[in-house]
Amino acid sequence: SMASPALLMRVVASAYSVAEKAATIVRNVMSAGDLGIVEKAGPNDLQTKADRLVQMSICASLARKFPKLTIIGEEELPNGDVSEDLIEDGHCEEILKKPCPTQYTGIKEEELVIWVDPLDGTKEYTEGLLDHVTVLIGIAYGGKAIAGVINQPYYNYEAGANAVLGRTIWGVLGMGAFGFQLTEAPAGKHIVVTTRSHSSALVNECITALNPDHVIRVGGAGNKIIQLIEGKASAYVFASPGCKKWDTCAPEAILHAVGGKITDIRGNSFQYNKEVKHMNSAGVLATLRNYDYYASRIPNTVKESLVP
Ligand code: AMP
Ligand code: MG
Ligand code: MG
Repeated sequence: SMASPALLMRVVASAYSVAEKAATIVRNVMSAGDLGIVEKAGPNDLQTKADRLVQMSICASLARKFPKLTIIGEEELPNGDVSEDLIEDGHCEEILKKPCPTQYTGIKEEELVIWVDPLDGTKEYTEGLLDHVTVLIGIAYGGKAIAGVINQPYYNYEAGANAVLGRTIWGVLGMGAFGFQLTEAPAGKHIVVTTRSHSSALVNECITALNPDHVIRVGGAGNKIIQLIEGKASAYVFASPGCKKWDTCAPEAILHAVGGKITDIRGNSFQYNKEVKHMNSAGVLATLRNYDYYASRIPNTVKESLVP
């Protein structure tokens, strides 16, 4: 008889369905037209009704099924009952059928830390740049990002009425990543993807030093990792604090699952244990290929300006 699926695969399979429910909420809030925007630290740090409802949905849904998980979400919300219509109890059957990488078969529920960005790219969401938006569920074990789900609720929204709207990308270290077509960036070209709404002099100084052929400025950490794995950009470069652990956990797991690399600007890997500081103070450097090329060209002055 089949052994019951490993805990990790059950969590990933549930996170997949929970992220699809989240995407429905993101689209419903937008089409209802009342975003309920709240400024957090300032006008470039926003929260909408979608950020709030989605975080409640993801955290409550996963906690109900897996009560011993540690779940850390971006939004600070009052405690209280979550409406039943926000609960997703389904899972992706196809994921459950896949074998768990052997190094993860013994993981226990209480050993996992889940990093949730209910809506990454909120600023762009409020400005109608809808395909920049992602829902991020990252899964960490032993301080490492080992699995992740990225849902893009508005994938294909400019592709016409016949295109299927939205997609879910998922991956596990040692297994690979699925739900997209892995594509190499154009050979011999240096295409940098960076922030659209959180630029600074240092962010731009760092990019200039890399002498790229082209710079793409788009919102969202999830969205920028998608640009890397689909060959639109060759490096994600962000020489600034501002990104948090929930921005990088799911993207890191997926990027690493396909052989890419993400670190801070100084080359340090990110840690995802539950006690870790949330802010990625020393920025982000990520590539699918040729990490060393970009890392070796980050100026020391830029590195020294960013303290981990
Ligand atoms: P961006 O590339 O600007 O979309 O940023 C990626 C993620 O980091 C998003 O979740 C942003 O909200 C967050 N982020 C980056 N810089 C800042 C900042 N200066 N203030 C607040 N959030 C930021
Ligand atoms: Mg975010
Ligand atoms: Mg967010």
